[in-house]
Amino acid sequence: MREFYNENERIAVVTTEPFARLLDYLAPEGGCKIGSFLILPLGKRKVMGVVWGPGEGQYEHSKLRNAITVIDAPPMSYSMRKFLEAVSDYTITPLNLILRLCTRVPDLNKPSVTQKVFSLVSNHSDFKKTPQRDRLISALSKANKNKLTIKEIVNISGVSTAVIAAAARAGILNEELILRDSPYPVLDPDFKPKKLNPNQINVCETVKDLQRQNNFSAILLQGVTGSGKTEVYLEAVANALRKGEQVLVLLPEIALTSEFFNRVKNRFGENPAQWHSGATLAERRRVWKMVARGGAKLVIGARSALFLPFMNLGLIIVDEEHDHSYKQEDGVIYNARDMAVLRASVERSTVILASATPSLESWVNAKNGKYNHVRIHERYGEATLPNLSAIDLRKENLKSDEWISDSLEKSITECLQNKEQSLLFLNRRGYSPTTVCRACGNQISCDECDARMVEHRFINRLMCHQCGNTKAMLDKCPSCGIKGKLAVVGPGVERLAEEAQIKFPKAKISVLSSDLHGSAKSIKDEIQKISEGNTDIIIGTQLVAKGHNFPKLRLVGVIDIDIGLQGSDLRAAERTYQLVRQVSGRAGRTDNKGRALIQTYQPEHPVVEAILRGDDEEFWVSEAKQRELASMPPFGKLVGIIISSSNFERAMFSANQLKKNTQALDIIGASVYGPAPAPIARIKRRHRIRFLVKSPRTPGLQDAVRKWVANVSLKGDLRLSIDIDPQSFY
Ligand code: ADP
Ligand code: ZN
Repeated sequence: MREFYNENERIAVVTTEPFARLLDYLAPEGGCKIGSFLILPLGKRKVMGVVWGPGEGQYEHSKLRNAITVIDAPPMSYSMRKFLEAVSDYTITPLNLILRLCTRVPDLNKPSVTQKVFSLVSNHSDFKKTPQRDRLISALSKANKNKLTIKEIVNISGVSTAVIAAAARAGILNEELILRDSPYPVLDPDFKPKKLNPNQINVCETVKDLQRQNNFSAILLQGVTGSGKTEVYLEAVANALRKGEQVLVLLPEIALTSEFFNRVKNRFGENPAQWHSGATLAERRRVWKMVARGGAKLVIGARSALFLPFMNLGLIIVDEEHDHSYKQEDGVIYNARDMAVLRASVERSTVILASATPSLESWVNAKNGKYNHVRIHERYGEATLPNLSAIDLRKENLKSDEWISDSLEKSITECLQNKEQSLLFLNRRGYSPTTVCRACGNQISCDECDARMVEHRFINRLMCHQCGNTKAMLDKCPSCGIKGKLAVVGPGVERLAEEAQIKFPKAKISVLSSDLHGSAKSIKDEIQKISEGNTDIIIGTQLVAKGHNFPKLRLVGVIDIDIGLQGSDLRAAERTYQLVRQVSGRAGRTDNKGRALIQTYQPEHPVVEAILRGDDEEFWVSEAKQRELASMPPFGKLVGIIISSSNFERAMFSANQLKKNTQALDIIGASVYGPAPAPIARIKRRHRIRFLVKSPRTPGLQDAVRKWVANVSLKGDLRLSIDIDPQSFY
């Protein structure tokens, strides 16, 4: 492929506009390279695009327009282009939508801006002293970098901007202009390594050998919570840094964790770049530019960081790889864990998937040798795994509006007496999941969706968890109009907190649920408060399952394990297993012996028994066997298709058209289930019709699905969405 295109030569461009195909343009003044980011004329607008190759020539030369300019950014690398094409093929999504995932950065098309920074001159003691100046000088001499913006100086010294400006005029401070998108501080791979134990050393050696091969390798790093997986993969990060490679670490719920950033700073001496929704626009722009230029060696990011234009990506780490938040469910539907493996294979680099409770997909890949399987068997140091037992709710005398059994209450009381923390886990946001009218039986549901409204007392409203709509609380039933008969059924975390406060009136209780806090920062602060021990009882949704370190936590109570096991979801067992293992792993992470009590009406359920026995291997073996017998993922493939429209008949008509001609799928031996109204048949006023395609594992699957769905034309507000490897089936 040609590298450079002269001015007026034909080029093919992928734009970020909704065209499924490449568009032909003429190269701009001064020419452009393959991969160059361009500003292009489109009708009367200016749009962005990337040079993908030579023009295709359907149009006459004289009809083509010139690209306007080349954007000030390095051209997109060959491997990045191959990666985007591969994601587009795998997810059956037009390339332009995939390109958008990697150009979501503010002001990409604007030149770099500068900012003023100040540094302390070396002969500052020669100048006249004032108390304000002393404060300024002492803060600057202690600062961890020598060039700071005026805002940063105000923050660390507490002196006013006037004092700083005067010090600059007097010559105590040196003033200069630097590019805002400047390189990140250099990380030192040998800054403060930990001394590893023999098991950890073994694992590190295996990983290092694979990294040395400079070729694609995928590693499943498995070890119970607290075994030191993070320490081990930070060693892999150090290896990559020594080789001059870039590293990406993906974390779920990254906006909520500051602990991890502290660990990285302690290990490598400086802060890494971060990419997530909580980062400022200026920060995101700097990360994007520096990743492309090599000025950012380590990026800690949310799933979308996978689409950053790294120039030399040697290592990707997907922490808590089983986490369901890696799946993006709207817009472009993709699983960042799987796409991380794809990216590593295109870049010929190493990918490490880390988890205490891997997804069945990764576990099977490790078992059959597709991934290297490395394991740490024990918790680090004195820490031991919590002792697990069940509370049989059939034998407890729970009232109908109570969820904390006497046995659990007794254990919590003991913890309170010993000044230790307990955590109650209930994976349900809000006060109560259902409000029902005791007069007519009507359940309060959303006007836009076929979903129940969930009472949230904290904000004093009813909320739909599908579309996020809220309504005022009601005093009479909207259906029969009778007053005073509405009653809540079942608990959410807010209701559980109410019960806990009644049972333990003196306890300090914290509720951790994504909707109870106004911002990521306020959740972070709450987590910090808990880690420092300023809470007696923590009540939380799955938010508490993720990686947080609560040193004083002794007891975990799982309020209702049965909730997760109900329903026909293919992954119900796996998900419950992972969640309960993760949550109970929070207890006893330091040295205390932790305990986990699991409340259930069915202690003999195989999943409950497997969790209690703590034999992970046995669970995966039996779960894998069942999936294999049913040819379900990862042994077979599933594709979810949703056709939606504001008009039910129109959606159903198109679905029936699709059903008539399934030849492309028949050829590869795939079967089609549906069409049927989806379990949530309406979301945001759109009716949803579902198909499920079940197919043997074959590389021809995407082609077949593409051919099949081409049978229906999407007129009006009809939409068709394709979900390869669906995780949710609503
Ligand atoms: P995981 O990621 O498997 O949950 P971590 O890496 O977070 O485990 O380790 C658990 C705790 O043990 C952390 O506080 C960590 O700093 C500590 N730790 C693990 N390995 C070592 C080591 N070799 N030296 C010192 N501390 C360690
Ligand atoms: Zn709704």
